[in-house]
Amino acid sequence: MTQHLNSLVTERRPGMFRLRFGQFVEGEFRRVYAESSYPKTRPILVSGAAAIFIALIFAVMEDNLSWQTTAFMLGVLLPTLMATLVMSYKEGSHGAYQMLLALTALWIGLVCTSITVRASLTGAPYYFGAEVAWIFVVWLVLGLHFWNAALIAVSISTTYAWGMLNWQFPLPEVVFSGLTLLAVNVIGAYCCFKLESAVRQSFLESRMLNDLAERDGLTGLYNRRRYDKDVEKLWRQSRRDQSQLTLLLVDIDHFKGFNDLYGHQAGDDALKRVAEVIAMCAQRPLDFAARFGGEEFALVLYGPAQDFGREIPEMLRRSVEELRIPHAESTTSAWLTVSVGVAIVSPGNERSLAGAIQLADEALYQAKEEGRNRVVVKESKSAHIQTGRFRAARMQASG
Ligand code: GH3
Ligand code: MG
Ligand code: MG
Repeated sequence: MTQHLNSLVTERRPGMFRLRFGQFVEGEFRRVYAESSYPKTRPILVSGAAAIFIALIFAVMEDNLSWQTTAFMLGVLLPTLMATLVMSYKEGSHGAYQMLLALTALWIGLVCTSITVRASLTGAPYYFGAEVAWIFVVWLVLGLHFWNAALIAVSISTTYAWGMLNWQFPLPEVVFSGLTLLAVNVIGAYCCFKLESAVRQSFLESRMLNDLAERDGLTGLYNRRRYDKDVEKLWRQSRRDQSQLTLLLVDIDHFKGFNDLYGHQAGDDALKRVAEVIAMCAQRPLDFAARFGGEEFALVLYGPAQDFGREIPEMLRRSVEELRIPHAESTTSAWLTVSVGVAIVSPGNERSLAGAIQLADEALYQAKEEGRNRVVVKESKSAHIQTGRFRAARMQASG
C-alpha cells in the first residue's frame, strides 16, 4: 500500500509544477477534466453556432456579405464548432474534444480580432471589449489546459497587436490596447494556472482516498469489494478479446495453528509477507491481486494461459515456502506454506464468472485434500462449469 501511495505522491510533485502527471494518471486526469468542462462549453458552442447564422443574416440584410466571410463561417468555423459539440457527447473522445475546442477558441478569437480591428478603423473602438472578454473566456471558462489556453490567447493577442501596427492605429490607442491585452493575459494566465493546479491537487487527493477505501488495511492489497468490481471488468474484457483468464485462490495452510502457536501479531506479519509475494506475481498492467478474506488471497492473470497460467502459481507456492517462516504446528512442512487452486477459463457466452471462481475454489479444495502445499490447476474446456459443488456444501456432506 505504501508503495502505491508513494507512486501517487511522486505523480503529484512534477504535476503541481509542470501541470503534468505521469503518463498513466495524466490520461485519466485529462478525461475527468474534459468531462467537467462539458456543461460550460456546450452552451457556448451552441450560442457560437447561432451567432454565426445571425451574423450572416445581418450581413445579407446590410448587403455587405463577402464570399470569403461566408466560406470561412460555413466551411471552417461552423464545422469545427459542431465537431467539438459532437465530440463532447462521444465517449472516449476527450482528446479530440480538447483539440477541437482549442481550434474553435482560436477561430472565434481571430474572428473577434478581425471585427474589432475593422470596427476601430471605422471609429468604433469599443468593440475591443469583446476581444478582451473572449481572451478571458479562453483562459478561464472553456476548461482548456494551461498551455493550450496560453498558445491561443497569445496568438489572438499577437494578431490584434499586428493589426494595430499594420493599420497604424493612433499611438494612445496602441498603448491603451497593448497594456490592456498584456494585463488581461497576465491575470488570465495566473488564474488559469492556479485553477488547474487546484483541480489537479483535488483530483489526486480524491484518487488517493478512493484507493485507500478499496485496499485492505493490513496487507495493502485490494479488498474484496474492489476484487468483485475488477474481476467482473476483466471478465467482460477477456470475452471481448477472446482471451483467457487465469483465476488463482491462495490459502495459507494450517494458519489457525500458526496463530495459536505464535500469536496474532506474528500471524499478521506472516500475512503481510505472503501478500507481498502474491503482489509480486501480479506484475503486468491488467493482472491484479486481492485479499479475498481472512488468510485467503486471489490473483487474476490476464492473457493466454500457456505463457504463465501454470508457471506463476507454482512460482508463487515455492516463493512462499522460500520465505522460510517457521511453522512448528504444520503437519505439511517445517515452514509456512500455501495451497493454490487455479482455474484457467476462456470467458464465453455460455460461461459465468461465478462458475469460474467456483472452479478455482474446487481446485483449492482438491489441493488441500491432496495434502496442501501444492497447486491444482483446473482448465475448463467444457461448455458448462458444473455448479453446486462449493467447499461448504461438500464439507457439510462429509461432516
Ligand atoms: P487450512 O490448512 O485447511 O486452510 O487450515 P487453516 O487453519 O489455515 O484454516 P482455518 O479456516 O481453520 O483458519 C484460518 C485462520 O486464519 C483462522 C484465523 O485466526 C486466521 N486469520 C484470518 N484472518 C486473520 C488476520 O487478519 N490476522 C491473523 N493473525 N489471523 C487471521
Ligand atoms: Mg488456511
Ligand atoms: Mg481459509
